[in-house]
Amino acid sequence: MRISHWIDGKVVESTSGRTSPVFNPATGVQTGEVGLASIDEVDAAVASAKTAFPSWRAASLSKRAEVMFRMRELVDANRKEIASLLTAEHGKVLSDSLGEVARGLENIEFACGVPHLMKGGYSEQAATGIDVYSIRQPLGVVAGITPFNFPAMVPMWMFANALACGNTFVLKPSEKDPSVTMFVAELLAQAGLPAGCFNVVQGDKVAVDRLLEHDDVAAVSFVGSTPIAKYIYETGTRHGKRVQALGGAKNHMLVLADADLDMAADAAVSAGYGSAGERCMAISVVLAADEIADDLVAKIAERIPSVRVGPGDEPDSEMGPLITAEHRDRVRGYVEGAAASGAEVVVDGRNGVPDDGFFLNPTLLDRVEPGMACYDDEIFGPVLSVKRVAGYSDGLEVINASPYANGTAIFTRDGGAARQFQFDVEVGMVGVNVPVPVPVSYYSFGGWKASLFGDNHMYGPEGINFYTQGKVVTSRWPDPATSKVDLGFPETR
Ligand code: NAD
Repeated sequence: MRISHWIDGKVVESTSGRTSPVFNPATGVQTGEVGLASIDEVDAAVASAKTAFPSWRAASLSKRAEVMFRMRELVDANRKEIASLLTAEHGKVLSDSLGEVARGLENIEFACGVPHLMKGGYSEQAATGIDVYSIRQPLGVVAGITPFNFPAMVPMWMFANALACGNTFVLKPSEKDPSVTMFVAELLAQAGLPAGCFNVVQGDKVAVDRLLEHDDVAAVSFVGSTPIAKYIYETGTRHGKRVQALGGAKNHMLVLADADLDMAADAAVSAGYGSAGERCMAISVVLAADEIADDLVAKIAERIPSVRVGPGDEPDSEMGPLITAEHRDRVRGYVEGAAASGAEVVVDGRNGVPDDGFFLNPTLLDRVEPGMACYDDEIFGPVLSVKRVAGYSDGLEVINASPYANGTAIFTRDGGAARQFQFDVEVGMVGVNVPVPVPVSYYSFGGWKASLFGDNHMYGPEGINFYTQGKVVTSRWPDPATSKVDLGFPETR
């Protein structure tokens, strides 16, 4: 199967001559090939978005909301179709793909409220006979560059608010699982979005770099790994663009001695191995208070054999394969390295792996310490590390010393400790007895430190802020009788 671009409301074949293979990670078999955009192809998408902008921007708020309402219905009606496209190229299990679609859909629902979200402020009589009011206007052509791990939801985080605010959009999805974005583009067209308002350019660094330097692209939203996020932020802002670039993560779950250990062990297994650990909000390190660490490690270890690993399209599977063979090998390398650097491999996921596909079974490491690669690096696989800590203060210090600060969680029965944690911890998204605290669509998503470059978090109110710029109007309808020349600076009294 050949996967193409979506430009100006139709499928456009890439003629660059450059392609990238797409695999079914559960079998390891190549199922398609995606054409990688040339600079000219990116330019064509941006030109189409630029042409579409004036009339989309001028469409009434009700009209733009109506398109979002229709899109909401279409995504809802096609949940299964989208989920199976996801599973076929990403590998995550169907239930997880359906969860991804549901969380993406919430962002479209939020964008349906755009008439309310774009309201400005009004001050009557700021000075005698003078009123002042603020309005928010779209930026123009905006671009989204997205990672492989949420090929439907992360684009929805971006395009729903961007389009509802009156921008036009160019999406550059991950080349590893690109098909779902073509399906979404068709749904947007069916929803009544005019041609050119939403474009998809498949591609790699060539396409990304062109978007970053293109004079007609006003803003770039990025989600991916930290080194690329930093590069996107630096390059995009250097070219005068507004940029929000969300990066990688290393999320800690602090389990205090008074926690419900069964609940904590269930949460650690769900949050560590769900989607094979390929989530930026996955828990990758459990910080276990010394008093309960042995018990907690035993409880996590005893749950692991019941995690059903298998192809994502089999109804029984709970955890699928990793995205590519190279990534699987890289994750295996961390397990090897952990053993060599003194960590204890409690459950070794390299054992019992099927011959086909890019599978690795859930792995549990104990006595992991900063300085070991398995602690310091984002592994992005089904590897859960346990580091033992003396208690609250020690655990907090470890979390706050991490360069990443996407998500974190505390497990405790002590409300006071949980409140203190929320106050003290230097991380963007915090769970209290909730291991994967992804904010709902009417809040905003984003980490701190090396997990986010830029000033606005993604989606929700900050998403609206990102995709609009403020304008303040000071207005007077003069009474000709009082009109006079006045060279002084305007005063309000
Ligand atoms: P990635 O950084 O490799 O790729 C992300 C996007 O950047 C893709 O579209 C890719 O084509 C493009 N890209 C890759 N290399 C590039 C380069 N050298 N120059 C320009 N563009 C380049 O990330 P990935 O492997 O697709 O996704 C996994 C990463 O994304 C993990 O680090 C994960 O933590 C992170 N992530 C973060 C969040 C978040 O909200 N913070 C959410 C999901 C994923």
